[in-house]
Amino acid sequence: MPMSDYEVVIGLEVHCQLATATKMFSGCGYAVGAEPNSQIDAYTLGLPGTLPVPNRAAVDHALRLALAVGCEIPPLSRWARKHYFYPDLPKGYQITQADQPYALGGAIEIPDHARPDDPLATTRVPLLRIHMEEDAGKNTHADEHSLIDYNRAGVPLVEIVSLPALRSAAEAADYVRELRTIVRYLGISAANMEEGTLRCDANVSLRPVGATELGTRCEIKNLNSFKFIEAAINAEIRRQVDLLDAGEAVIQSTMSYDPGRDQTKVMRTKEAAADYRYFPEPDMPPLAIDAAWITAAKASLPALPWARRRALVEFGLSAYDAGVLTADHELANYFDIALAACAELRGQPAASLAKTVCNWVTGELLKLLKADDSDDTDSTSGRSLAACPVSPAALAELIGQIEAGTISGRAGKEVLAKLFAEPGRSPTQIIERDGYRQVSDQAAITAMVREIVQAHPQQLEQLLAGKDKVRGFFVGQVMRVSNGQANPQVVQQALETVLEQLARADDKPDPS
Ligand code: ADP
Ligand code: MG
Repeated sequence: MPMSDYEVVIGLEVHCQLATATKMFSGCGYAVGAEPNSQIDAYTLGLPGTLPVPNRAAVDHALRLALAVGCEIPPLSRWARKHYFYPDLPKGYQITQADQPYALGGAIEIPDHARPDDPLATTRVPLLRIHMEEDAGKNTHADEHSLIDYNRAGVPLVEIVSLPALRSAAEAADYVRELRTIVRYLGISAANMEEGTLRCDANVSLRPVGATELGTRCEIKNLNSFKFIEAAINAEIRRQVDLLDAGEAVIQSTMSYDPGRDQTKVMRTKEAAADYRYFPEPDMPPLAIDAAWITAAKASLPALPWARRRALVEFGLSAYDAGVLTADHELANYFDIALAACAELRGQPAASLAKTVCNWVTGELLKLLKADDSDDTDSTSGRSLAACPVSPAALAELIGQIEAGTISGRAGKEVLAKLFAEPGRSPTQIIERDGYRQVSDQAAITAMVREIVQAHPQQLEQLLAGKDKVRGFFVGQVMRVSNGQANPQVVQQALETVLEQLARADDKPDPS
């Protein structure tokens, strides 16, 4: 059967580490990247006599995520033990939530791939549930020995489980991207795939187009980049198509993805799957989230990416610009503040300056920030924005000076670069100190133009003969002589005046 006769069905399980000062069930501190086995306590190590106590901040983070994506919050949820024996799990079980999670339903909005012509069109990917759990430690297998780092053991996680509602690898990657943006907007996680604070398992199955029953799924484990999410799912789709085309059955399995070969391979089949012997956690009562907590959490939610994207488009920005600005919470906030400040300085409606401010923020500012940032591809501009030496108010002041004609756009770029190099200075200080002020003085510029025109008789002849391109040459010369400070519009006007004067002089009857 050709590929097009199969419908792809994907459901994702995404783990997201919550950024809290302490672990999920103990007061043990946790810092990402700390010395191995430095972030541990008696509970983390599963020593006898230690008891779990839920971390209120972690539950609050999890609750805000659930409310942001529209989950229903049952009044009670329960903790459960999931048993397995592995060195990364000192207690011999992981505390999680099994049949009574704290959040049910909800949805993530992603771009609608069926309507690519409308960049604002979205489709909702429904969620099954979100639950809380604790992370395991980390094993590193060397040649002759294995190393264990318990720092991560006990760190709070949420697992967000989608319904099998995604239809392509690209949709799956968009779903994870959107989820990442949401948790970053909420400020509850660094959500960095390369650092493992956001991790994805993808369940993939095929069925004949039109079938209502789901096909047998395989689950690809530990996808740690957006590139691998897409590549692994596409590789798994190819593997399943080949099996089904050959008349073989897909066997429910856990898969791993080999990027070198661009192939998925079976790690274990369902028969060999672990029996986790789930049972209710006896050391903790059910978790109660009451109406007052929910109300307070709801009140703390920021406007989410899709809402802000729509607002910016209604403001006259393109969907593309709105997407760039809102991909990062800090960037969206930076833009809003800079725009408001600029509008106030100029006494103009904000909408009339939105595109200009957007161009400066997404263009020159991000370029300078990136040059400063040696970080990987998963890094946010937000991380660098937090340390941006140019405040939104300073950028607004700079744009205001350009709009007012005090300096040229080109000079503006140089001033911005200097602001990066000399934090604390204001744009106006640099403009005055380094002489960026544009010369708009008609008489001075006209004199300059006359001098240059007289110094280049050949080019003048060409221009008078109708070769209009030579106009650019003269403007360029004036800019050079004025060190870029002449106002280009005034130069154009002055050139016009000088040419007219010359033409009039020519018209006069020859006195001889
Ligand atoms: P488990 O926890 O055992 O992996 P779940 O029922 O919780 O099983 O499902 C896990 C994920 O698998 C969910 O995201 C779900 O949407 C997805 N899923 C379930 N069945 C299928 C299927 N036939 N094809 C693709 N994804 C599926
Ligand atoms: Mg699973």
